[in-house]
Amino acid sequence: MQILFCTSEASPFAKTGGLADVAGSLPEALHKLGCDVRIFMPLYRCVREMLPVLDPLGHGATITIGPHDYHVHLWQSRTASGIPVYFLEKDEFYDRSYLYGSPLRGDYEDNAERFIAFSLSVRHVCEAAGWFPTIFHLHDWQTGLVAPYFKMNWRYDPAFARSGTVFTIHNIAYQGVFPAGFFPLLTLPPNVWSFQGIEFWGQCNFLKAGIVYSDFVTTVSPRYADEITTGDFGFGLEGVLKERGKNLSGILNGIDTKLWDPGTDSYLPGNYDADDLAGKKACKLALCKQAGFEESTCDFPLLGMIGRLAAQKGFDLLEQILPDLMKLPVNLMILGTGDASIEKTIRSMEKLFPNRIKLSSGHDEQMAHMIEAGSDIFLMPSRYEPCGLNQMYSLRYGTIPVVHATGGLDNSVKDVLLHPDSGTGFKFYKYEPEAFLEKIKSALELFSDSRKWKQIQRRAMAQDFSWSMSAKHYLWVYERVLSGKRGLDVELR
Ligand code: ADP
Repeated sequence: MQILFCTSEASPFAKTGGLADVAGSLPEALHKLGCDVRIFMPLYRCVREMLPVLDPLGHGATITIGPHDYHVHLWQSRTASGIPVYFLEKDEFYDRSYLYGSPLRGDYEDNAERFIAFSLSVRHVCEAAGWFPTIFHLHDWQTGLVAPYFKMNWRYDPAFARSGTVFTIHNIAYQGVFPAGFFPLLTLPPNVWSFQGIEFWGQCNFLKAGIVYSDFVTTVSPRYADEITTGDFGFGLEGVLKERGKNLSGILNGIDTKLWDPGTDSYLPGNYDADDLAGKKACKLALCKQAGFEESTCDFPLLGMIGRLAAQKGFDLLEQILPDLMKLPVNLMILGTGDASIEKTIRSMEKLFPNRIKLSSGHDEQMAHMIEAGSDIFLMPSRYEPCGLNQMYSLRYGTIPVVHATGGLDNSVKDVLLHPDSGTGFKFYKYEPEAFLEKIKSALELFSDSRKWKQIQRRAMAQDFSWSMSAKHYLWVYERVLSGKRGLDVELR
């Protein structure tokens, strides 16, 4: 099985969210299962800074977008565990401060061209490497066009005759929708411009291209796979997804259990495990100091939150409960970057409750690990959450999550109140501030019973969120695609 991961981000090279974690760790898990996996991604400025020396791959290629020819270069390196990574160099497109746009100005205006170029280059990277994958595993709208390019053109090339495509949706809210005028630039047959193709309310939708033209569609949790076929969560694509029927499946993301291990995590001032939680206390104290909380309040339960500052993440609920929450003896530490207006709102909350709420803005790996380890309770009130990784990290770090029961949050957290003997966290079911606050209060009540709390912590820390199970599910999907798409009569989970 030869798999090319086509992705716009992959850890540790470039990351804005969960896609990077998946593209960084799933290939490794597949490699362990005996697959020949390689990764292809753009050569962003941050990649250049991390890898100043790269090996050339071939002599470059020319791609055509509408009236323009672009000469691109290809480079190669390897991940720490030896997986080949190919990079597309086109400085005009990728040598920028951010991956997709800046927090203040929003998306880059040429994002369509940037990812048309990337999608067209997939074929060239295979030719340059002299390696023709059996599966093109595509991720999110940035690589959606690879599916029609493959189906309409490349598959007629004998080198790709045995290949198939799998498209994974990491977040359906981001679709890559561009004006109809972009269609001629794609050099795809005219029949692709239809409501059964790339057209979406008179515009080009790159995510839809991936959904419609790939052999199999997956998303990142079983619950989200159901949700996106409904009007509430499908962002207009629910009908198209329903049509994929059994060729749509939800596979829960795994986590990198080496990187996220409280027993060995080098970002932490103290390491710990389920049998000896003393190191967690040291982390809490250090986090309290780093945040600048009043020393007298460092015994308070510490609530942590990490995430892109985006409407999806439930900051509206947080804002509404804050006055009541701050009447309770708790401190709140938030790490996030993104939407400037959300940051402004949190900053004003910070001013209202000085030394009790702290926002650390920017992307900060060390702080993310510190919050997972040093907090007692982790808040994830996302309006919707395709999978979510932080709740799994927090479970592994004995930091009990309070989550909205949606998407992967619902699949990975078991409610303690409903399942006293097997629960691992707290779930609220209605997306309402009262429901969120109620569950935080329930968590605080249990926290005050340290014996019971430790039991939940141990149970949470014993959960297996490694990739081993989910990687096997992906392998099953690949095999199914390659075995000529026979009827799906085996359930994934
Ligand atoms: P999403 O992909 O919607 O952003 P996920 O929970 O799936 O959400 O993944 C987010 C990933 O990004 C996690 O690994 C999380 O720890 C990380 N992350 C988010 N914001 C930050 C930040 N400001 N600094 C460091 N890591 C962050």
